[in-house]
Amino acid sequence: MSDNKYLVAIEDIELDGSYDFEFEDKIKELEDCEIRAELEFKNMGEFISAQGHVDGKITLECDRCLNKFCHTLNFDIDETFAKKSLYEDYGQELELSNSQFITDLEGAEEIDVYDLLYQSVILALPNKKVCGINCNEGYFVSEDKYKPHDSRMDVFKNIQIDKN
Ligand SMILES: [Zn+2]
Repeated sequence: MSDNKYLVAIEDIELDGSYDFEFEDKIKELEDCEIRAELEFKNMGEFISAQGHVDGKITLECDRCLNKFCHTLNFDIDETFAKKSLYEDYGQELELSNSQFITDLEGAEEIDVYDLLYQSVILALPNKKVCGINCNEGYFVSEDKYKPHDSRMDVFKNIQIDKN
């Protein structure tokens, strides 16, 4: 799914011990997004660490009113890759602590930055996607409940919510 220019060769990371990578592009699997990332890959024997920062924006759909809104991305990446398949018994990912995972490269010679960023953005999205503090969920069919009409609420119908 990714472009070749977003593959980082393990060999290049091993050569100098570290390798900087800058990413500025859209990820087409994510709706209307702009992703910027600065990553540093470090060679650590059997492992490679990837640390850095991601910012940008992405379009999400509000869980309450179903309107599209712009969500700002701003988070750190801290990933560890195992060069060889060390954890066959544990499956693809072994959890070291709360948020630290080791991703098994299964002998691959490259790290796919595009895929790393895609997975990281998905994980960084909020569990509950709400367009703003003014989102008036009472007016819409939310999940499986339809709220009966309350005429006292009509005053809110004309309020425009600033989605920016
Ligand atoms: Zn909303």
